[in-house]
Amino acid sequence: MDPDPQAGVQVGMRVVRGVDWKWGQQDGGEGGVGTVVELGRHGSPSTPDRTVVVQWDQGTRTNYRAGYQGAHDLLLYDNAQIGVRHPNIICDCCKKHGLRGMRWKCRVCLDYDLCTQCYMHNKHELAHAFDRYETAHSRPVTLSPRQGLLRIPLRGIFQGAKVVRGPDWEWGSQDGGEGKPGRVVDIRGWDVETGRSVASVTWADGTTNVYRVGHKGKVDLKCVGEAAGGFYYKDHLPRLGKPAELQRRDGGVYRTDGHRASHHGPRGRARAVQPRDALDLPPRGAHQASQGSHLGLTPARSWLLSAWTLLPWLWG
Ligand SMILES: [Zn+2]
Ligand SMILES: [Zn+2]
Ligand SMILES: [Zn+2]
Repeated sequence: MDPDPQAGVQVGMRVVRGVDWKWGQQDGGEGGVGTVVELGRHGSPSTPDRTVVVQWDQGTRTNYRAGYQGAHDLLLYDNAQIGVRHPNIICDCCKKHGLRGMRWKCRVCLDYDLCTQCYMHNKHELAHAFDRYETAHSRPVTLSPRQGLLRIPLRGIFQGAKVVRGPDWEWGSQDGGEGKPGRVVDIRGWDVETGRSVASVTWADGTTNVYRVGHKGKVDLKCVGEAAGGFYYKDHLPRLGKPAELQRRDGGVYRTDGHRASHHGPRGRARAVQPRDALDLPPRGAHQASQGSHLGLTPARSWLLSAWTLLPWLWG
């Protein structure tokens, strides 16, 4: 059993292009944000193990290498969407309790923590080095000070973005019809489960509803007018699919392959040999046909039901 499932790659994680990226402007240009919507599986001809399918905020949907043949096309920008939380940690800048997403701890000051947003917004001394904790159970990774490092502006479905219905849309004509734009007024969490995982959108008729942008790996929206979403230090984000080191109770360290570990069987045994065609398969690019093949596979009816149950006043 994986001692920390949140350390693996999960649907719903928010990502940006990474160190081995060679796919042009599929992300809409560097700084464009996307959501992991499907995980590779052993033996899958289209999406082999250690690849992921990403739905970019601006609409492209393609698969990428997350450790496949040793290559990492993506960086993890945010994992609050899969429910990562540090229950007893407070961000010493924005004062949020139970810090969500990655945790950044100053190595110079005693007991000083930042959330991802505050860290990337240059809060605290830029000359102080920080440790990054990917989850509440991760072993810390020591980073260089932020001073003088390249910081890239984020763009996508953030507050102020102009959006239309996206690939997982199943909300009838709440938007006033396909292609009718609305405006994102807020990005927030869904109940206590997930953080920064849904967007509140106001449509032309003045109604406002919430839609999934990462919650349960679903993306209800597509960006037609991107908004600025802050910044990120490219050198300080983890590579998606890179082996994560987990803390053990006795202080030792587990290594995982950065995937969900459950399907691999006992450690130290040989991996199953994959079909030849899967091993040679490149990411398939943004073809309409392959985009279409992912649509409508897993309708989130349970989410709809819970939405009705929890927030009936939001649904018109
Ligand atoms: Zn903060
Ligand atoms: Zn400090
Ligand atoms: Zn795997």
